[in-house]
Amino acid sequence: MQRILFFGLLLAGCLNLNAQEYFLKQYEPYTEGIPSPQEFLGYGIGEYHTRHDRIVHYLETLASVSENAEIETYGFTHEKRRLVILRVSQAAHLENLTELQQQHLAFTDPGASVDPEADLPIFVQLAYNVHGNEPSSSEAALLSAYILVASQHPLIERFRREAVIFIDPTINPDGRDRHTQWANSYRGNPLVTDPQDAEHNEYFPGGRTNHYWFDLNRDWLLAINPESRGKLNWYHQWYPNVVTDFHEMGTQSTYFFEPMKANGSLNPIMPKENYEDLNELFGSYFAKSLDSIGSLYFTKEVFDGTYPGYGSSYPDLQGGLGLLFEQASSRGHAQKTAYGEITFPFTIRNQLVSSMTTVKAAVDNKSTLRRYQKDFFNTALRNAAASRTSAYRVEEKYDKNRLKAFIDKLLIHRIKVYKDGEDAILIPTSQPQYRMVQTFFETYEKYRDSVFYDASAWSVANFYNLKYTPVRRTATDTEITSTEELFPVAPVGRSDYAYLIDWNDYNAPALLYRLQSEGLVLASAFKPFTTEINGEQKAFSYGTLVLPVSLQKKSPEEVHEILLGAQQDLQVPAYSVKTGYHLKGIDLGSRYIQALEQPKAAMLIGEGVRSYEAGEVWHLLDTRVHMPITKIPLRDFDGANLEKYNTLVLVSGRYDLDEKQRERIKKWVSEGNTLVAIAGGARYAISQKWIEEEMVEEVKDSTKTAERKPYVDAPENIGKEQVGGVILKAELDLTHPLAFGYQNRAIPVYKNNEVWLSHSKNAYSTVAKYASDAHIDGFISEKNRKEFLSKSASLLVSRLGRGRVVLFADNPNFRGSWYGTNRLFLNALFLGEHIGVPE
Ligand SMILES: [Zn+2]
Repeated sequence: MQRILFFGLLLAGCLNLNAQEYFLKQYEPYTEGIPSPQEFLGYGIGEYHTRHDRIVHYLETLASVSENAEIETYGFTHEKRRLVILRVSQAAHLENLTELQQQHLAFTDPGASVDPEADLPIFVQLAYNVHGNEPSSSEAALLSAYILVASQHPLIERFRREAVIFIDPTINPDGRDRHTQWANSYRGNPLVTDPQDAEHNEYFPGGRTNHYWFDLNRDWLLAINPESRGKLNWYHQWYPNVVTDFHEMGTQSTYFFEPMKANGSLNPIMPKENYEDLNELFGSYFAKSLDSIGSLYFTKEVFDGTYPGYGSSYPDLQGGLGLLFEQASSRGHAQKTAYGEITFPFTIRNQLVSSMTTVKAAVDNKSTLRRYQKDFFNTALRNAAASRTSAYRVEEKYDKNRLKAFIDKLLIHRIKVYKDGEDAILIPTSQPQYRMVQTFFETYEKYRDSVFYDASAWSVANFYNLKYTPVRRTATDTEITSTEELFPVAPVGRSDYAYLIDWNDYNAPALLYRLQSEGLVLASAFKPFTTEINGEQKAFSYGTLVLPVSLQKKSPEEVHEILLGAQQDLQVPAYSVKTGYHLKGIDLGSRYIQALEQPKAAMLIGEGVRSYEAGEVWHLLDTRVHMPITKIPLRDFDGANLEKYNTLVLVSGRYDLDEKQRERIKKWVSEGNTLVAIAGGARYAISQKWIEEEMVEEVKDSTKTAERKPYVDAPENIGKEQVGGVILKAELDLTHPLAFGYQNRAIPVYKNNEVWLSHSKNAYSTVAKYASDAHIDGFISEKNRKEFLSKSASLLVSRLGRGRVVLFADNPNFRGSWYGTNRLFLNALFLGEHIGVPE
């Protein structure tokens, strides 16, 4: 074997080591004929960053040369990279895996009689690299796979005998490859450890996130992206007992493993054995193994597992044990730190040691983990029986596609759901997934902690703006097992006069865009009306789309064919009418029915722009509206021709625009276009004085001296004033075009910023303000409630010349999962030109 020397780091200094000794010696001997990662790749692990396709190819090679491994594909990313899992165990177990799986799954079935002491291998999932630019763990995955498959060391033979290990080498391959390309292409020879080198400083959007710049380590609950959807489907076939989640943090740090920060970690619906017993037990193993190689670490600080959508918290909600690891990042191949130098191989070794220790702790504590898994699902039923709620009833009369999207979320988490008449569903509490039901519906007023690593509100039903009520009855209607063919929409009949299309439906903007792209002209009703449909009176509300047949350039047959095809694909209610004379309200020729221009949208992106928010806009338009948006890099702004667009999106960010650039935007808006500014983007627009709106300012008494407080408490005291993520109730003006498609004045909105917009001085500009009883879910400090929330607006629109600026204080597209507020954003795009500000 070729021996390649590189520098490995122990914080005290550098040592010359070779890959075989540094990573693999401990588990010698290895089976001949199975290539090590170095033999396969042609370089020692840690010398370069390994591309995802090579990682997959290596695992495939292991599966083809060894009877201890087999590989499965569980999905494809947005960019069509393969998502794989390598199953490792002794050959006899792999041959018999379906039978072992059935025996294992019996522990998740409260009705089954099982024996935790039974001689059954424990199921361990080693999952790596959810954040693409935290690359050490996927390199460790290659080593783990080799050791677990090829080592003949008695300890590893015991692992294969007593465990089935599922290795997911890269959860986020699209992000990983972005970063891999970056780190390898800037790699110096010799290595440049200067933190200012390009190798250590990625540009926008960086490799952390996936194709649409989503943080996949928040997506386990929301299940928006194919990476997590594939993984969730896999997960519910296997219910592993232990799951790892490997990360990297800032360079100036050490290593973190669980237990997490005590107070913040207490998700009130989790069995306390998870935190108090299992995490302590596993933590003692990690401490010992990291002590033995001289690595420093910390526990019980900084990180909390409260949010249920992390890779380390979701398994906790499924009867398993999720484990977070955070390694100080070398971000590149080697970097100078205050302690000396941190190298890529050093970071990889810590992750490898934690991987092997996880398997050891799982094997040593097989019966404890099995007992925990069984109790978890048993107590789910017991807690449900003790609850006053037998079921949650969710009703949605007007928008079945939004309801279907919500049902899809329930089903992917294996929550049982039943129909309840024509417009409602029923979710019983008495089911093994009771804790997920609680996660979706329960809200919390009080918190044990105030500083959270992420959101403190995740009652998913509110994301979908769905009205739900706890009830005391059981399901009598049919169980829903798929959203296909659910709530079918009647095919629209042919008309030679006009068609009406419901704007309440979630897919209506997608339908409008498609019809406009086919060259049809549609209009929107700015006042409601009632007409006769199939002999019955039917009321049509604000925003109803009107497609007049005689005004089109296409024949009535063609118009019907195009509409019918699009309507059936997108399942949007549409109606044919024979007359424009209405029983109540405006007629079809009214001046309150206005023709719509197709949106031509652009968005500024690039260094300084908040990539999550930009990605959410891009994802919404791509995947739900099927409408392109031009992403203009800030560095190219001067050369970009804005005349091509009628809508410009400005999400949060540091916009260092010069005066000429700012003037260009202002002039372009004032010529009749629409600027949609979200959160920090709204604050920026106000700070530029493009419009006459203001931020709510903190009232400060300059004569008062601050109360003296202990220095050590400063981070907590300051932290609690940040709005980490809270669900608030806003009140809409339902007659405003930005609110078209909504039926209830009250809607939940998501706030994770301190952008507090003052109510407008204009009587018609404040489209949504916070309700007087605004709090729905999550932590918000008393000071924020009193000084800001009570005086603020959630959504404003302000005039600028002949154009307008739409100001969102709250993010309407948060994490791709706020179906309830997406429409506010889409109305700004589709109806923008007609939004005036009367004075
Ligand atoms: Zn991370």
